[in-house]
Formats: sequence, C-alpha cells, structure tokens
Amino acid sequence: LDGKSHPRRVLLKLSGEAFGGGAVGIDPAVVRRIAEEIVPAVSNGVQVAIVVGGGNFFRGAQLQQAGIDRSRGDYMGMLGTVMNCLALQDFLEQEGQATRVQSAISMTQVAEPYIPLKAIRHLEKGRVVIFGAGAGMPYFSTDTVSIQRALEIHCDEVLMGKNGVDGVYTADPRKDANAKKFTTLDYHRALVDNLAVMDASALSMARDNHMMIRVFGLEGQSNVTRALEGQEIGTLVGT
Ligand code: UDP
Repeated sequence: LDGKSHPRRVLLKLSGEAFGGGAVGIDPAVVRRIAEEIVPAVSNGVQVAIVVGGGNFFRGAQLQQAGIDRSRGDYMGMLGTVMNCLALQDFLEQEGQATRVQSAISMTQVAEPYIPLKAIRHLEKGRVVIFGAGAGMPYFSTDTVSIQRALEIHCDEVLMGKNGVDGVYTADPRKDANAKKFTTLDYHRALVDNLAVMDASALSMARDNHMMIRVFGLEGQSNVTRALEGQEIGTLVGT
C-alpha cells in the first residue's frame, strides 16, 4: 500500500448509540446532523473514512445474556452496523456528498466489499468511505476495527466520536462531580487505569502501532466538523 504523504486523512468512528438517539433503531435527525457536519470538512479537503458502530441495534455480548450464541449475536451486531452505514450514506448523498460503503461481510447489492486500495482511491477522489460490518469477525468491536482500518489505509489519526461524554475523564463524569477531563493522555495510563474510553484491544493496537486517537463528544454544535478539521477538542490519547 502507498504510505506516501497525502492531505489530512482521518478515520471517524461514530458510536451506534448516537445514531439511535438513545433508542433502538435510527433517529434520522441525529444522522442528518452528523452528515451535515461531515460535508464541510470534506469540502475543505479532509479525506474522511468512517467506521460506524451498531450498539443502537444489537451487541453480541448482550444477546448472549439473552441466550443467543455469542458468535451469532456478534454477526447480528455487525449487520446492525450496515443499516447505520446505509442511513449515513443516504443523508450524505442528500447533501451532495459522494460516498461508498464497504462491508466486511459481503452483501454486494448494498455495499462494496472491503478493498483497502480501493478505499484509498475513493478518498483521493473526495468520496467519503463508510466501513460497515466491523471486521467481519465475532469477538471484535468497532472501536478495534476503527484502529485497524486507520492503520491499513494510512490515516493520520482516529477521531472517536462518543455519545453522552466529550472526552476522557479521571472518573465517570456522570457519577463523580470531581471528575476532570484530560486534554492529553498516554496509552499506558488509559490502559492501566482502565479509564473506560474504549476497549483494551483497540487501545493496545493503537499503542503498539502509534496511532493517535482523539476522543470527543458527538453532541456539541459542529464538533464533528471541528474534529475532522484538526481542532483540539476532547482528549488526545497517544502522547
Ligand atoms: N461486532 C463484531 N465484530 C466486529 C464489530 C462489531 O462482532 O468486528 C459486533 C459486536 O457484537 C458488537 C456489535 O457488533 O457489540 C456492535 O458494534 P459495537 O458494539 O462496537 O458498536 P458501538 O458500541 O460503537 O455502537
């Protein structure tokens, strides 16, 4: 793969929970707003690849609690991410933004297969590439996949858009009034202190391969545009 210099290229991870607006399914108003915030950054020359989560539909670990085989539940979770991808694709296209969805599970009527070199080509042409179905493998999370995809297609950093929290804190800010937000944080501390930013496999893959991660809140006005354009919001993990 071609690792030579290129304009700013980022991997935006969008939590599935955000897409649901707190419920099961898709809240079109939320997805439309996120799409509207992606377009200005792409117009300014930022190359944007996206990994979408699926927590607004299914999580394999939760289905397992309900008696469903873990791997099968994980596949259900992955299929949920693809529905989110299609919703985001639709709102982006309504904004006049060309997009391609690439799925890790083949479903050629709705998405291209995951082909990294082709994804890079789309980005170079100013298309937004949306990666669906996670890694296509049970026991993975979309957080981990976002680091892997960012590494494989040579992104400068991962922008991890969270729902209900706007960065990494010393403790859960929803439970502890004294919790303080980190501006920067090293991988080691995030891992060792178990700061609940993302799963440990995502963090350790980022640490081992020097991929920086900016954790930020999806809710604030223009936060997505600001993160895509490189503004210092939220917490930068990887110092
Ligand atoms: N999943 C999986 N392999 C992957 C990505 C996702 O098995 O590579 C499944 C897993 O069950 C997960 C669900 O899909 O719980 C939804 O993804 P995730 O929980 O990462 O979404 P988010 O928390 O970002 O909404």
